[in-house]
Amino acid sequence: MKGPIRKIGVITSGGDAPGMNAALRAVARACTYYKVECIGFYRGYQGMIEGDSVELSARSVRNIISKGGTILKSARSKEFRTVEGRRKAHENLIKEGIDALVLIGGDGTFRGGVAFSKEFDMPFIGIPGTIDNDIAGTASTIGYDTALNTVVDSIDKIRDTASSHNRLFFVEVMGRDAGFIALNAGVGAGAEEILIPEEDLGVDRLLQTLQKSKRSGKLSSIVVVSEGDKTGKNVFELADYVTEKLPQYDARVSVLGHMQRGGSPSCFDRVLASRMGVNAVEFLLDGKSNVMVGLIEGKIITTDIEQAIKNTHDINRELLRITDILSV
Ligand code: ATP
Repeated sequence: MKGPIRKIGVITSGGDAPGMNAALRAVARACTYYKVECIGFYRGYQGMIEGDSVELSARSVRNIISKGGTILKSARSKEFRTVEGRRKAHENLIKEGIDALVLIGGDGTFRGGVAFSKEFDMPFIGIPGTIDNDIAGTASTIGYDTALNTVVDSIDKIRDTASSHNRLFFVEVMGRDAGFIALNAGVGAGAEEILIPEEDLGVDRLLQTLQKSKRSGKLSSIVVVSEGDKTGKNVFELADYVTEKLPQYDARVSVLGHMQRGGSPSCFDRVLASRMGVNAVEFLLDGKSNVMVGLIEGKIITTDIEQAIKNTHDINRELLRITDILSV
């Protein structure tokens, strides 16, 4: 085991998520509190490879708790996937005097951390920052709650126009491999049907639900579709297919896209990021490594990072049943 931790390096990596700045602020201030230096590397692992860094003092992170995105920028670094890239990153960390790392990102970021720590003796802690909520070991990832609120706000607006014109709207939301956003925002916005990657409900069931809605006198309908849904059709093909089968519907498509990543973080995400950031520094100083901080039953706990990546966090299937009942 190496000596005491005097300097911590931090990155934001992978897809950006609202609340990453709040987490950076918490890491930097906890470092100041515990008299540890804090260095931020720009553009995730790429900044480590290029030695592109900045000192993060308690004052340099002022006024960022409310800001979306990340002041350190984020990137997907191909070079870090190579041994050579990771070696360069390690050399720069040694040159900079870094004793431990805080990695803020998604499962890919943690995979990078695992590969790095197997080759070099560098303690690290992961903070789950991704709007997808697709990481085991935490009930919520930083950015997920904000993304949910953004999606619900957008669907509420789409509902206004859908009801004014008696239309059927297909709203595509982010989630290639995980349906958390679709499922929770769909229930929150009162969607008639929700299509997610985890459950193959089939297009026939969708047609039945829509026919039932029409018969029950509904004037507008919203179908929330996760990017990775299992219908085998993209959202535009799905809308065409449904209008072909149910010509009484006037269907439109709305793809929410990158707006789901942006915006000022919700209070929940700010509090979560603040707790995770402080705890990450404290766990590192207590000698923990190769773990991820997570929120379980209201408490900040740690999970072995390989378990967090390997296990999938289950969606709440009860919400599908609730949607079924509420779309009566
Ligand atoms: P999001 O869930 O928002 O997409 P992420 O952290 O999963 O975020 P990725 O692009 O998958 O985003 O990973 C971030 C970076 O981590 C990659 O660009 C790459 O540099 C590094 N990385 C990912 N997987 C590995 C791996 N197996 N080995 C080394 N580095 C990796």
